[in-house]
Amino acid sequence: MNQHSDLMIPDTGQKRLVIIGGGFAGIELTQKLKSADLQVVMLDKHNFHTFQPLLYQVATGGLEPSSIAYPLRKALRNVPNAIFRMAEVLEIYPQENILETNIGRLSYDYLVIATGSKTNFFNFTREVSAQMMQLKSVNQALDLRSYILQNFEKALLTKDETEKESLLNIAIVGGGPTGVELAGALGEMKNHILPKDYPELDFRRMQVHLFEASGELLSAMSDDSSEKALKYVKQFGVNVWLNTLVTGYEDNVVKLNNGKNIRTQTVIWTAGVMGASINGLNPESKGPANRMLVDAYNKVKGHENIFALGDIACMVSEEWPKGHPMVAPVAIQQADLLGENLKKKMKNAEMKPFKYFDKGSMATVGRNKAVVDFPGGKVKMGGFIAWLAWMFVHVMTLIGFRNKLIVMVGWLYNYFNYDHTLRLIIRPYPTKEVGSDATL
Ligand SMILES: Cc1cc2nc3c(=O)[nH]c(=O)nc-3n(C[C@H](O)[C@H](O)[C@H](O)COP(=O)(O)OP(=O)(O)OC[C@H]3O[C@@H](n4cnc5c(N)ncnc54)[C@H](O)[C@@H]3O)c2cc1C
Repeated sequence: MNQHSDLMIPDTGQKRLVIIGGGFAGIELTQKLKSADLQVVMLDKHNFHTFQPLLYQVATGGLEPSSIAYPLRKALRNVPNAIFRMAEVLEIYPQENILETNIGRLSYDYLVIATGSKTNFFNFTREVSAQMMQLKSVNQALDLRSYILQNFEKALLTKDETEKESLLNIAIVGGGPTGVELAGALGEMKNHILPKDYPELDFRRMQVHLFEASGELLSAMSDDSSEKALKYVKQFGVNVWLNTLVTGYEDNVVKLNNGKNIRTQTVIWTAGVMGASINGLNPESKGPANRMLVDAYNKVKGHENIFALGDIACMVSEEWPKGHPMVAPVAIQQADLLGENLKKKMKNAEMKPFKYFDKGSMATVGRNKAVVDFPGGKVKMGGFIAWLAWMFVHVMTLIGFRNKLIVMVGWLYNYFNYDHTLRLIIRPYPTKEVGSDATL
């Protein structure tokens, strides 16, 4: 094929495989293809990979952003056939095998979409959702950190008790792992750190609320782990509202379906995600929650040379009628297999269908407290040992030795000092583009 590129990518005579997204799936796939006779082009709108599981620690001042992010150019250094361009893909033209990006057009022979997910605000209008904070990117984590700290600074200056209450209170919507981890971390800050930083403020008046529409926290985990997480999060002083829907947010008041109102200037939405899809594909490829329907080989429905991996891919099977969970191991395992299968495809060998190996799930609530469900869900673990296991798994999954070391040292320091020193307000928030995708 005659290759087209406005992105200064040379025509090597090899087939060109373009990967959109340098997340867990994108990086794993490039590693798998380093010996393949293909030109691999990775495009990402950021020049770094984000380790999303630890974003909440950046948001709460526990870790610096650079310790959970990794430069994509460095990640590709050992892949001689790979090229990186920082570019946002805006549209796909599958008839011509061409992508439209913010820096020009690029042709492909094979396309892999690994764009992950974005926040799903369900039926909330743009006007309402723009007032809520999100936690999907490093930028949003830093915005959240600055915003919360700015509110405490403002609380010091107001004599209006209602205003003070709304500045101190924090509402988290969604009792999944992100909501629970964030609530626990904020509860810990309230108990151990904030009273030292702001001795003039009475933090007994600060309320951290966690709203969950279903009857339990961590509903994807076992009942045992859900109950333990509820107990732990309450021990951190968090007010947990189960079976409670947030129905609106206006004039700094969160409205609930039970008729109650909670006054706060900080609402963090962790209640839903949807695929970060790109326009242009066959409508039949569109699956639930904006994800792309793929077959057992991750090939997108209705397209022969387009694949999707990780959060954006929805592979429906008897075992997984709603697709696989949107977690890192699924993305990594799918990328691993697609790498093998593409090499087989080029040799006209038979490809292998995907089978998810579920390694179990875990979530931490805070210091000394986490829950772990082992594969199969029969064996569970909670408390200190689970917390150690959670830390070990997360440190080992981070990319780069430096990041592993810095996170470990940071955690040790925080553990013994009940303190961390990253409470810098470096991004005055809100900006003009409050809550907009422009800050992603
Ligand atoms: C706060 C939080 C906590 C989490 N905790 C856990 C956990 O504890 N354990 C776990 O297993 N999973 C966790 N997850 C989920 C996990 O992070 C995802 O399942 C995983 O990142 C999916 O990998 P991916 O490669 O599909 O996408 P991502 O890792 O999201 O990567 C997508 C990449 O695509 C890029 N991109 C998107 N759109 C475009 C575009 N149009 N053009 C160019 N580039 C684009 C993005 O910049 C990004 O780099 C968490 C997620 C969040 C948000």
